[in-house]
This record gives sequence, structure tokens and C-alpha cells, in this order.
Amino acid sequence: MYFALPQEYREAKPANLVERIKAAKAKLGGRAIVLTHQYQRMEVVQLGDVLGDSYGLSKIAASRGDVEYIFFCGVHFMAESAYILAKKHQTVFLPNPLAGCPMADMADMADVLAAWKILEDFGGDKKIMPISYMNSAAGLKAFTGHHGGLICTSSNADAVYKWAFERREKLFFFPDEHLGYNTGIKFGLKPEEMVVWNFSEEYGDLTEEQIDKAKVILWKGHCHVHTNFKPEHIDNIRAEYPEAKIVVHPECTHEVVSKADAAGSTSFIVKYVEEQPEGSTIAIGTELNLINRLVHEHPDKQILVLSGETCPVCANMYRTTLNDLAYCLENYQDIKPITVPDDIRADALIALERMLEVH
Ligand code: SF4
Repeated sequence: MYFALPQEYREAKPANLVERIKAAKAKLGGRAIVLTHQYQRMEVVQLGDVLGDSYGLSKIAASRGDVEYIFFCGVHFMAESAYILAKKHQTVFLPNPLAGCPMADMADMADVLAAWKILEDFGGDKKIMPISYMNSAAGLKAFTGHHGGLICTSSNADAVYKWAFERREKLFFFPDEHLGYNTGIKFGLKPEEMVVWNFSEEYGDLTEEQIDKAKVILWKGHCHVHTNFKPEHIDNIRAEYPEAKIVVHPECTHEVVSKADAAGSTSFIVKYVEEQPEGSTIAIGTELNLINRLVHEHPDKQILVLSGETCPVCANMYRTTLNDLAYCLENYQDIKPITVPDDIRADALIALERMLEVH
């Protein structure tokens, strides 16, 4: 996809953009809402109406039937999910249409369908429950809903495992291997009860026996931002700041999660920092824009990036600028909104509504 902002917007100064965004929002009044994900740039977050993680923002999209326009400052799968959950009369915009998620792209539908064809010999949807992480394309969410499964986020993954195991013997978890594995361990599974489906290899690079014995089959996908945190980063922090608390996101590898003091969703991390006493030192293993904002909001605490000088930035979250938001708000009538074909929307909605029920 090619996308270039008109020159006028590219060259506008930040102060001018801020004024224009405020004016455009005022003109739209109660007809519009600007949702901002926790990993967005600070200046974008400051102009949003609601800040949250993908789970929290989905709930807003599902419950704010009173607004006509939803401007979603995040990445593509989030705006797609908002569209699926929104009412028919609502329109959803992604201010920078190039903002995608490489992890969501790791679960290509042709690969997923090829894998499922094999897994049908192991019981298909009589025995195997598909679970898709929120960070996935609408087509995968629809596949999941169609086969009786549901969407999970890092906020409700534990409850989703419980729900799924009450109904079927095995889980097929997409696309984040690490969230799936970390949740499995927390749930009480043994490492040998989880296998990884390598979609680039024939038969997932597994044997029949491995598939048969597995309780969880994990798709081989990952977030390059969170897998950049290494166990040695934790060792370095512990050596230099023995008093520090370390909190990480469950998209990090299990080696990192198991060495940290706590692991949880974006909202969990925000709350964890809030709850630490004044004067504490906290090292965080998640996206840099969120860490920077927490530094700004908690001057009474020493907040560190777990990986030191290695910057954990999500380049896709970083794509959305004030320039994009101003352009989108001022020209929404001429901009292509985010949509999903009706048949995909219907099945994906089933999976997303189950997500909202299970927490
Ligand atoms: S932080 Fe990772 S999972 Fe989240 S949008 Fe960026 S690449 Fe995707």
C-alpha cells in the first residue's frame, strides 16, 4: 500500500497541528472519539479521548454506540477489531494506514488452513480449540470464531485457557508462541506438553506422536519488540540495582518472564508501577513509548528500560504522528475507513464477543 500525506500536513509545525486537531475534534463534538493505544507517541496520547491496551480499547469500541466516528491511533488489527465490534452505523479510521503488526502477519491464512487440515486428523474442532491472540488479522479471528474458539489478550489469557480446556482437550494458539507458552506454564502445564508449530516446515516440523501428546500447539510467531529482552538484561539490572523490581510483558520469552518479579499485560504493567512505593526503582520490559510516559508520570520513582541502551520501540506504533491525526480528522469524509467483509466480520465477531465474556 502506498500512503503519503499531502505536503501541507507533512510540513505543518507541531503547535499548529495540535491546534488543528483540537479544532477538528471540537467541530466533530460528541460524534467522534479518538482512541489511543498505550504504545503511541506521547503527543498523540495527549490528544486522545481514551488511552488503553488492545483489550480495554476493544471494550470501548463495543460500548460506545453513541459516536459515529472512531479514530483509532494504534495498528491495523486494532482498528479492524474496533470495526468488527462497533455498530453498523459507526465508521473506524486508522490515521496512519501503514501501521501494521509484524507478529499478526506471521499467521498467514493459507498456512493456518494448511495446518488445520492436518489437525483435523487429530480431532479437529471436536478436540482442538483454536485461540487467537488479539494481535491477529480479521481472517484469523473469523477462523477462530468459526471453529468454536475465541480471542485472547494478554489481560485475559489465563481465563481463556481455563475456558478452553473446560471444553476441549487441546489448544491451538496463534500467533504468539511466547504468550501461549507463558500462559500455559502459569496454567500448570509442563513444558513437554506444549509444542511449536513451525509453519515454514512440512507437518509443522512435528511428528504425529508429538501432536498427539501435546496439550497446546503454539504457532511459531513472535513480537520482535518483546523478544529483544534477554535474560542477561535482567542479570545486569539485578547487579547494578539490587533493589529494583522487574516487570515484563508476557510476549517476552519464558527465560525472561521467569527471571522477572512480575509479568502481565500493558494495563498490568501500568498498575504495577503505580503501586510501587515512592522512591522505588522499577525496570520495565515492554515498548519504549509506554516506558517513557511512565517515567514522565512518576517523577517520584526511578523507572528504567530493562534492556538499557537497546531501544524497544515498536516502529509501527511509532508511525502515527500528529500530522497523520490532523489529516485524518480534517479529511475523514475523503479517507477510506477500515472495513472487513461481512462474512469475516460475522465469524470474527463471535470470537471477539467470547473474549469480552471470558475474563
Ligand atoms: S509491539 Fe509487537 S505485537 Fe505490538 S504492535 Fe508492535 S510488533 Fe505488534
